Amino acid sequence: MTDHVNNKTTTNGHIQDKLVQDSITNNQDITAQVKALQNTTANAHNVNSIDNNDFTHVEDLPIGTPQGQQTTMSNANTQSSTTNNAAQANAQTTKQTLFNQRDDINNPHTSDTDGNEETHFGYKTVNKAEKQARVADVFTSVAKKYDIMNDLMSFGIHRLWKRYAISLSGVRAGQHVLDIAGGTGDLAKVFSREVGRNGKVVLSDINAAMLEVGRERLINAGCNNVDFVLANAETLAPFDDNSFDLLTISFGLRNVTDKDAALKSMYRVLKPGGRLLVLEFSKPIFEPLSKAYDLYSFTALPIMGKLIANDAESYQYLAESIRMHPDQQTLKQMMQQAGFENCDYHNLTAGIVAVHRGFKA
Ligand code: SAM
Repeated sequence: MTDHVNNKTTTNGHIQDKLVQDSITNNQDITAQVKALQNTTANAHNVNSIDNNDFTHVEDLPIGTPQGQQTTMSNANTQSSTTNNAAQANAQTTKQTLFNQRDDINNPHTSDTDGNEETHFGYKTVNKAEKQARVADVFTSVAKKYDIMNDLMSFGIHRLWKRYAISLSGVRAGQHVLDIAGGTGDLAKVFSREVGRNGKVVLSDINAAMLEVGRERLINAGCNNVDFVLANAETLAPFDDNSFDLLTISFGLRNVTDKDAALKSMYRVLKPGGRLLVLEFSKPIFEPLSKAYDLYSFTALPIMGKLIANDAESYQYLAESIRMHPDQQTLKQMMQQAGFENCDYHNLTAGIVAVHRGFKA
């Protein structure tokens, strides 16, 4: 933890006690999940062969799904809107299409706009125009196993990191919250309860498969104040200026092609007085831990990915993308450049993860 965390008052000491308590509870959940997983793995061949057919799709949701819960395609520009409508139409005729499509929602990087400009995809160098589709492939591939993999890979600690970020959010009843790159909805689920029925939460992600898992999960949990919106963090095109009290992006930013553009878009949609929280892997501040962590990430993660999600490559990307992400100080400066004020960060688990916080004046 940094000084920010060390200097916390007894109130935060109390919060941390609660976090530990939660971790004990969650570990029990994990044990149950691991047992369930053993059954799943035993049937792995069957599961893989019917992967795309045993999934509840948006169009299959029961009649009476709460009002306002729309999976919305961005209509920010006519061309991508047309593409998206076509994708929706196809998805209705063949379910397979929805999960095999390479999500190109509002890809702002094309060979016309960016030429051959390059960026990184993990340790690989790729054209900017290509990165979004490659990231889409990763999350489309892992969506159904994403939650259990998170628990297994982090030993459940990702839940503590998320709870810590939420404890910094200052969220209140009646507020409007946008969870960007929100995937399967861990944060949105908590915010839904915190903002209450006069508030609103938007769970947003670029990837239809991830959002679908989140939507099903939150509807099952009775969250009826949540909207589900497909959107690219880089543009946040479906959202008006100054429209949210709180923005969160958890383990999402490192996947975005142009992070500066994303931070500027976040600043645009945040209300004056509102705050942004970025929870992301960062740079460990303790060298011996850093070495052990590297060893774990580059050996265990791909093996677990192969065994559980039948996808070693995506988890290799995960490890590489973490190393390529800006460190604590660099990200803080990027937030300041995007216009955020009073930016600070809090290291968690010795800087393996950090929560950055910034405000719009
Ligand atoms: N926030 C969730 C959590 O903490 O568990 C999900 C994090 S998951 C590692 C990363 C998410 O970022 C994926 O759901 C992915 O589809 C999404 N994502 C990647 N690039 C994105 C982009 N440009 N705009 C919006 N979401 C994006």
